[in-house]
Amino acid sequence: MALIVQKYGGTSVGSVERIENVARRVKQHRDRGDDVVVVVSAMSGETNRLIALANAISDTPSAREMDVLVSTGEQVTIALLCIALQKIGCNARSYTGAQVHILTDSAHSKARIMDIDHARVCADIKAGRVVVVAGFQGVDEAGDITTLGRGGSDTTAVAMAAALKADECQIFTDVDGVYTTDPRVEPKARKLDRITFEEMLEMASLGSKVLQIRSVEFAGKYNVPLRVLSSFEDGGEGTLITLEEEHVEAAKIAGIAFNRDEAKLTIRGVPDQPGVAYKILGPVGEANVEVDMIVQNVANDGTTDFTFTVNRSDYRKALDILNKTAAELGAREVVGDAKIVKISLVGVGMRSHAGIASKMFAALSKEGINILMISTSEIKISVVVDEKYLELGVRALHDAFELAEESVA
Ligand code: ADP
Ligand code: ASP
Ligand code: MG
Repeated sequence: MALIVQKYGGTSVGSVERIENVARRVKQHRDRGDDVVVVVSAMSGETNRLIALANAISDTPSAREMDVLVSTGEQVTIALLCIALQKIGCNARSYTGAQVHILTDSAHSKARIMDIDHARVCADIKAGRVVVVAGFQGVDEAGDITTLGRGGSDTTAVAMAAALKADECQIFTDVDGVYTTDPRVEPKARKLDRITFEEMLEMASLGSKVLQIRSVEFAGKYNVPLRVLSSFEDGGEGTLITLEEEHVEAAKIAGIAFNRDEAKLTIRGVPDQPGVAYKILGPVGEANVEVDMIVQNVANDGTTDFTFTVNRSDYRKALDILNKTAAELGAREVVGDAKIVKISLVGVGMRSHAGIASKMFAALSKEGINILMISTSEIKISVVVDEKYLELGVRALHDAFELAEESVA
């Protein structure tokens, strides 16, 4: 008898019929003898709807009240799922994050889980009940409701699985696994049977929203067996996120991630002196704006051009800060572009294969796509391009690296 944590995302609980479908699935597992803890998201579109309601009242709603508001979506689905389970004769009980003491820090809208008191859940499991936990939400030490960031129900599920030492954490969603790239952008994308934690972490942090980054971090840290599966199709094995050792011979490229939420800013003609990077990025960091890629070019007239990327939602804020810094430093000008995207190739096999970057640049140039910025690490290469080239770029790279085919190392 195994203990399984199953998470069902927004689309999977998007209507009463779908919730009843989830209940049937959960019951099937129970009938096979497994213990099941279920984590659910809000019905699809609900979290966005709630955010829009707050924004209709205020441009600056307080973070505490936003968390009280958006956490309600998950409270609806836990109750509905339990009602559906009870209707088909499956004993079940719902819990909010606070009720199972998912203790987090107090960083509203991006809280981190610190501890879970699983005594109550364990007692229910022992009593033969299915436990249904609200995803995305927790409670801080003061007893205030917190949320874990968009897509955070994945992290609730993995954290529950880690706390309960579950045999597997299954993420049920609207695709039947992790693909070489988002199948909505490249229909030829291929489902992966396995991907390493390291690659999945990189894919998630570079924009593949199939799993929240923190859920992958958590699963890697606590060694939680994690699987992505379809909630609409039966019988598939989905994608297993594994440790690297289990890979006999890693393919060069696991997949292509992309991020549409990017913007870049450049400050030109800054006197090239020690401390200049700090003077430019210090105020940006103090304003809580996260900087991603950084490029600095030095001209032969003793000045430097400095370019960096930020999340698109922080673009205006960063631009205002940079204009002030430019005046203080006597820089020539500040320019910005909020219509850029980042496309990344990810694969642990890159470590042992040379020539991947040049093949990537050749494929993009063949399509006339101009590369605006480049950054590399051991297992990824990212390029920034104009947003109009996103689909073309992803498909060109998918073809160039033959990702639609069963890959040979
Ligand atoms: P849920 O509501 O179940 O949490 P999400 O919308 O968060 O579902 O995640 C599933 C979506 O992730 C898919 O519909 C797909 O469009 C997108 N996606 C992005 N990159 C990938 C990828 N590499 N493999 C599979 N799906 C991906
Ligand atoms: N409902 C939340 C969101 O839309 C959390 C989740 O779905 O995982 O981001
Ligand atoms: Mg999700």
